[in-house]
Amino acid sequence: MDKYLSVITNFGCHYKCPYCIVTNNNLQIPKSTIGGLDCLEDVLKENNCNIISLSGGGDPLHEYEKHIDWYRKFFSIVHRRNVYRNNKERQIPVEMHTSYMTDETSFPFYDCYRVVYHANSYEQLSHIKRTGREIVRVVFVVTENYTINDIMDIALFVKNSSDIDELSFRQMIDNNYEEQHYLEDYLRLGHQKLWWYIEQCDYNLYYCENRIYTEYKRIREEEYSL
Ligand code: SF4
Repeated sequence: MDKYLSVITNFGCHYKCPYCIVTNNNLQIPKSTIGGLDCLEDVLKENNCNIISLSGGGDPLHEYEKHIDWYRKFFSIVHRRNVYRNNKERQIPVEMHTSYMTDETSFPFYDCYRVVYHANSYEQLSHIKRTGREIVRVVFVVTENYTINDIMDIALFVKNSSDIDELSFRQMIDNNYEEQHYLEDYLRLGHQKLWWYIEQCDYNLYYCENRIYTEYKRIREEEYSL
């Protein structure tokens, strides 16, 4: 069973996702700094994490070119850390979560084990490409505007795509941090057949600027101090 460490970044964001829990819930994620990676190696070791996910707080790839130094340090830590997965010793894998499609950033996606593209329209699917050997997943947040036809169009595109391996749907979180239930019966029906239906839960350990948290919504700027 994998144990994730979810590294929460805040490099800013385009704020275009209609369902953004970061803006809607007024979360105050600290800005990402290079010094904020200082404890990452120890936290990985102490908690026996065998996979890292990168997400936000904002989009981890927002203005990527301005944050290359942060990524250099991040990957130098990752490249030093070997873990056991599936009975083999290997470099700890990195899972990138972004809403930039492959052609919208110069980030080397092939350095990741898995890339999870957060898409919000059918049209974006054709901008998702595999760049190396990474597993490619696309996730959609279902809103009140989605129909069963929309879900099926997306599922069929992914089924026929040689660039996208996995599809998942999840529900919107409202302004009170409550999960919604749009098309839920239908989404449950297709779970593990045409897609994964992810029911919201905090199952990760979160790392943000040298601190660890067990709940995403508790990551707040005022709690941060070295
Ligand atoms: S990428 Fe994340 S932080 Fe940015 S608008 Fe979308 S949901 Fe909000």
